[in-house]
Amino acid sequence: MVRSRGDDATSLPLPLLPHDLSDDQRRGAVCAYCGLAVSTGSAVDLGVRHDGDGVRIFPRAHRDCASHVAS
Ligand SMILES: [Zn+2]
Repeated sequence: MVRSRGDDATSLPLPLLPHDLSDDQRRGAVCAYCGLAVSTGSAVDLGVRHDGDGVRIFPRAHRDCASHVAS
């Protein structure tokens, strides 16, 4: 159901509704899936999303976490 195309993780589902993500998850400081810190070198950009209020969020994830979700 979820299609993954290379490093394009922008179509991956988020683990929670954007409204329920922590501030750190919303700004991409920590992984959207496991909540641990992500570094720029290893982070997968999940793309710009919008929460229920239309506020843009910038979730990121570890490569392993994203590939687990994509598989
Ligand atoms: Zn993670």
